[in-house]
Amino acid sequence: MVDKIFRVNMTDLTTSVEEVPEAWAGHGGRGLTSTIIAEEVEPTCHPLGKNNKLVIAPGLLSGTVAANSGRLSIGAKSPLTGTIKESNAGGTSAQLLAKAGCKAVIIEGLPKEDKWYSLAITPAGVTIKEETERIGMGNFDVIKSISPEHDNKIGILTIGQAGEMKMTSANISIQDPDGGLRSCGRGGLGAVMGSKKIKFITIDPEGGKVDIADPAKFKAANRTFAKALAGHPISQALGAYGTNVLVNIINESGGLPTKNFTQGQFADHEAISGETMVDLINERGGKAKHNCHAGCVIQCSQIYNDAKGNKLTSGIEFESVWAMGADCCVADLDCIAEADRIMDDIGIDSIETSVAMGVAMEAGVLEFGDGVEICRILRDEVTKGTALGRIVGNGTGSVGRSFGVTRVPVVKNQAIPAYDPRAIKGMGITYATSTQGADHTMGYTITTNILNVGGQVDPLSKEGQIELSRNLQIATAAIDSTGMCLFIAFAVLDDETCLPALVDLLNARFDIALTIDDVMSLGKHILKLERKFNIAAGFTAADDRLPEFFYDEPLAPHNVVFDFTAEEIDSFWNF
Ligand code: SF4
Repeated sequence: MVDKIFRVNMTDLTTSVEEVPEAWAGHGGRGLTSTIIAEEVEPTCHPLGKNNKLVIAPGLLSGTVAANSGRLSIGAKSPLTGTIKESNAGGTSAQLLAKAGCKAVIIEGLPKEDKWYSLAITPAGVTIKEETERIGMGNFDVIKSISPEHDNKIGILTIGQAGEMKMTSANISIQDPDGGLRSCGRGGLGAVMGSKKIKFITIDPEGGKVDIADPAKFKAANRTFAKALAGHPISQALGAYGTNVLVNIINESGGLPTKNFTQGQFADHEAISGETMVDLINERGGKAKHNCHAGCVIQCSQIYNDAKGNKLTSGIEFESVWAMGADCCVADLDCIAEADRIMDDIGIDSIETSVAMGVAMEAGVLEFGDGVEICRILRDEVTKGTALGRIVGNGTGSVGRSFGVTRVPVVKNQAIPAYDPRAIKGMGITYATSTQGADHTMGYTITTNILNVGGQVDPLSKEGQIELSRNLQIATAAIDSTGMCLFIAFAVLDDETCLPALVDLLNARFDIALTIDDVMSLGKHILKLERKFNIAAGFTAADDRLPEFFYDEPLAPHNVVFDFTAEEIDSFWNF
């Protein structure tokens, strides 16, 4: 099937199917969303206004049987950060969209009337329908009301109440293979979908398939690639304990932000650790190892049941557990899982919202450790859009500004995730320089700072951190374009067969002759393109800085501060 661009104009409610411009042909995933936004979106536009566009793109290898290739990229100008934004997640939609012959969906304009809509995507294009029945519903009810009619075989993207209310932490949820959710969580993309008044999107490839130029070569490369992934010890640890395996490891390093970033270790870390979580899952008949999409050979996801054995949530990630656990001092996994489920249902970023709760705790809105009150605020305030709910739902910066708190862990107004930049300095460089605001996935230096993958760079020293973050940000931009899950990075860095096999997969899929250098050049190109958009939107080097408390409040137990000069940070861009 030949790939096309599907375009949707929400102002005049028309759709079209277009040829892929030559300049876009070599792009997929993040590379394509950022290329289209840089080309078609005015950088100074209001993110929730008529001139922003929402772009949805499967990766270059999505829809094939390549291991771990089912990530879907969604991009726009972010209402949270004001920067260009790409957020990707697993679930079934990337593979189905690729099988429908869709290289990207571009959604533009705002409806003239105060009505809601849904989009239905098939290989023939997009159909717009008015939607009344599901407005006000949470994500789980939306999926439950649509999926069974289609034998659970279609893809669904949906926004919850947070997206409908255009909260700047609202995410876009993607149905996973078990009827659960994966989230394109960061940067408020759900608010952009809400501004265009689209409640949900269905994807039905109607039996379509992705063509492979050289099937034999593709099969051989995938065998090598999958073997490298499955054999790496970090992949195996992720399969055994999920990403939550990191609670004890990061706590031990002294870089687990605790009590709104005032300490680097959480006394109750064992209670929320991956090891404790897996014990509970096994006792309650859940599933400790699970896919977020078909073809994953690492399986870091899980199904977490409540004390009665009923499914509570799936894919409970380290970052969510850390943020509600250590950062808000809640030492109760059931309470954290409950809050995680509510956030999935409302459709709101669990990192942004939980870090916002930590700032609200510092302001005295609720007590540190009060997980029951977190759940109440989510249910009674955020879901209903009360004044407090909107303050929280608009993110960590919003809570800090509203309550006069100065310890507000954000960069470019996006909450800093689970690694304190004072004790793990490479992450500080990534948070400061990322084109997307503070985001650990943009250049995950934990690999080499803590896990000793791809070498070793002392997390407490300044030496080597800028090069490390730069190399990882370049590699990540390229990986995000393939549709691959970022957890392939461990094997890519350590196993010399892995990256050549990934390049072979691309070459066999498209009958091209890329080299490893070409892939790295692609990563550099994407980073520079995104930065150019941000500069045109008004960002300067002064925005590539951490909040001042990281420079003057030493973090226990190492009693360290973030000590990079402005010039040192700015040298990141010397490539
Ligand atoms: S490793 Fe985890 S996040 Fe990556 S594809 Fe597998 S289940 Fe999804």
